[in-house]
Amino acid sequence: MTATAAVPAPFTRDDYAARMRRAVDAARAAGLDGLLVTPGPDLVWLTGYRPTALTERLTALVLTADREPTLLVPTLERPDAEAAEGAAAATLVDWTDGADPYAAASALLRPDGRYAVSDSAWAMHLLGLQAALPASRYHAMTARLPMLRAVKDADELARLDAAARAADATYEEILGVRFAGRRETEVAADLADLLRGFGHEQVDFTVVGSGPNGANPHHEAGERVIEPGDCVVLDFGGLMSGYGSDTSRTVCVGEPTDEVREVHEVVRQAQQAGVAAVRPGVACQEVDRAARRVIAEAGYGERFIHRTGHGIGLTTHEPPYMIEGEERPMVPGMCFSVEPGVYLPGRFGVRIEDIVTVTEDGGRRLNTTNRGLRTVA
Ligand code: ZN
Ligand code: ZN
Ligand code: ZN
Repeated sequence: MTATAAVPAPFTRDDYAARMRRAVDAARAAGLDGLLVTPGPDLVWLTGYRPTALTERLTALVLTADREPTLLVPTLERPDAEAAEGAAAATLVDWTDGADPYAAASALLRPDGRYAVSDSAWAMHLLGLQAALPASRYHAMTARLPMLRAVKDADELARLDAAARAADATYEEILGVRFAGRRETEVAADLADLLRGFGHEQVDFTVVGSGPNGANPHHEAGERVIEPGDCVVLDFGGLMSGYGSDTSRTVCVGEPTDEVREVHEVVRQAQQAGVAAVRPGVACQEVDRAARRVIAEAGYGERFIHRTGHGIGLTTHEPPYMIEGEERPMVPGMCFSVEPGVYLPGRFGVRIEDIVTVTEDGGRRLNTTNRGLRTVA
């Protein structure tokens, strides 16, 4: 096992300042007065600040067109906030225990303003703000500014590429471990160890769906002992340098049956069709349609029971979604999964997933391991 990537250069104050300006522009274009960003991926993207503990004390970045970016923090957390690279691009305002944080936040907002607020904002904070400014209105970030973090810049792409290479190296290694006679949880532990060994700081999921368990797309790993002849869905990922990986391959323990070969080939062609549909200016839903068409024509349409893909970045599930009804266009720099599957209840499932980025010329896969049906011992 070798290290796969050097630690990337950190994002700079200028990177964060540019993102804050983009966010304000996006809010204005959406008819909003600004953004209220609480701890979570939006705040990490805009400032690099990740409070060590999520607390009941209000922390919020206020971005509006009419004032400098302002980061409101509890006084005791001010030193941590100041240490974040992007905090230098904002004015820090602190509030002390015993003071009213909503009064402090209100001073930064328009009484009748309309703001996008982080999806993960605590209800108590939003209710506190609404009580302090009864004429103000708030909208979920994902509902009003879904594409805020969707287009990745070159430095973010480099991180996603490195995370994908680590996931690919994990897949190559797992092909050499023993499956038959071991529990799913044991193979899942191997996957987690490999992801960490190849540089992930966090493992988010290690799906090992053997035999009938593979027919449940969200089965993770259980006590089932893997048997010879099993089809096994592997789907794993986590975070590396803060950015996500997520890939699936389906393997067979020993020789596959003709039916397993057939279903696997249908999914492989569907995944290929989905990736081939990636093109700037084309609606996201076309990726879903392209993959789904292949599966439906093969007679398995009822057995493809989830959307074709999801965006990935600071989190492993985020906009854009490759789903019927998502008419927004693909834009160069977007990164998302293309992961069709076929699930035969009580028997087996097959899923193949790559992370793909949109380029001027079409889709480029970040995951490049062989998509053929591989056998394991
Ligand atoms: Zn999922
Ligand atoms: Zn996955
Ligand atoms: Zn996925």
